[in-house]
Amino acid sequence: MQDNGAASGRLMRGAVSFVTLGCAKNEVDTRDMKGRLRKAGFQVEAAPDSADAIVVNTCSFIQAATEESIEAVLDVAELDGVASGEVPLIVAGCMPARYGEELTHELSEVRAFVPCSREDDIVAVVEAALGERAGRGAPEEERTPQVPFAYVKIADGCDRFCSYCTIPFIRGRYRSFPYEEVRDEVAARAADGAREVVLIAQDTGRYGRDLAEPSTLAQLLERLAQEFPTLWFRVMYLQPEGITDELLDTVAAHANLCSYFDIPLQHIDPLILRAMNRSGSPEELMALLKRIEERVADVTLRTTLLCGFPGETEEQFEALCDFVEEAPFDYIGVFAYSREEGTAAYDLPEQLDEEVKAERAQRLRDLADAVCSARISRRIGRSMAVLVEGREEDGQLYGRAQCQAPEVDGVTYVDEGEPGGVVSVSIIDTLLYEMEGERS
Ligand code: SF4
Repeated sequence: MQDNGAASGRLMRGAVSFVTLGCAKNEVDTRDMKGRLRKAGFQVEAAPDSADAIVVNTCSFIQAATEESIEAVLDVAELDGVASGEVPLIVAGCMPARYGEELTHELSEVRAFVPCSREDDIVAVVEAALGERAGRGAPEEERTPQVPFAYVKIADGCDRFCSYCTIPFIRGRYRSFPYEEVRDEVAARAADGAREVVLIAQDTGRYGRDLAEPSTLAQLLERLAQEFPTLWFRVMYLQPEGITDELLDTVAAHANLCSYFDIPLQHIDPLILRAMNRSGSPEELMALLKRIEERVADVTLRTTLLCGFPGETEEQFEALCDFVEEAPFDYIGVFAYSREEGTAAYDLPEQLDEEVKAERAQRLRDLADAVCSARISRRIGRSMAVLVEGREEDGQLYGRAQCQAPEVDGVTYVDEGEPGGVVSVSIIDTLLYEMEGERS
């Protein structure tokens, strides 16, 4: 009798389990690797303790993320199957891209390393790791996502070389994906059940310049908004230089383009910005925010700030706090500077003590919470469409309005609707970053 693996509860080609660390871009990479394996006949949703192979997709953009990734790899290495050598452990993503050969000596438990640039070869890597156990099988059916949003990458890599950042070394130069590729990916995610598509890249505003037929983010959005009128589109990681009037007017012109701008400013002090290999001044950056508010009605603004950069004085930090008090941000992510080997900022003098960096980050977070929650409470009384995402354990329905990005901005609790549907609500209350809506 032919052994198709059913006796062991496994599909013919074997079951692969994924552990994913880091940001949304890494989640997209995991989804792509799963898609390739699924097409090749593997089952890709196995739990680690019942898998034939385990892939840990790592994050390594700062030291803390590297440590977390190593811990995850070591946890997986302790599983019986991996420890006995029966189940191959494969480490993918940013950590092998950043540390390369070094890792083979440090993590001898790992069967294969797959840096970001080689993730397209994941099928061959898993096949080689499994050896003869990976027979031929039929492709597994696509799975419907459990949440009605999906991330779609429009580019990879970065040319900016901010002096504190490892990403350009890990991910390589900026490469936009042609419109057809983005459109096909959006269509696939919509077919899976996504109602909102979040477009991501390291630097979304730079989209299109490097294509054979140059394009812009605004042109990409215009085409997507028209081609998929029932989907919401949201753009994350827009560097200030990428915000053109063409982009603002395009977003303002389409109801299905979320009036939401995520602009990582990092700092506002001109000297610190220059040392970061970035540019701008408080006046220029405030003018940019005002311009966005003027051109796009009911706009939501998010930023990311980095404090404790080498040489940052108490006065420069306080100027950043003053800016936060005045600027019209709804959401602010705050990070303490992390000194990363291989970056230009690593060698800068006047590195600050860890306690000073942590204390400034906490002060800035507390301030951001106070300022942003006050802004969010002003939404009470406004009508909004909410994309229902699911139910809490106690049955309470929740979702997100266009002013809330997935996974970072909190949710809106609603009293009616079905997961995957859109309901119109009136906001009746807010609590810090959460909102409560009543069917209107
Ligand atoms: S824009 Fe700057 S911070 Fe962002 S990925 Fe590129 S180099 Fe890093």
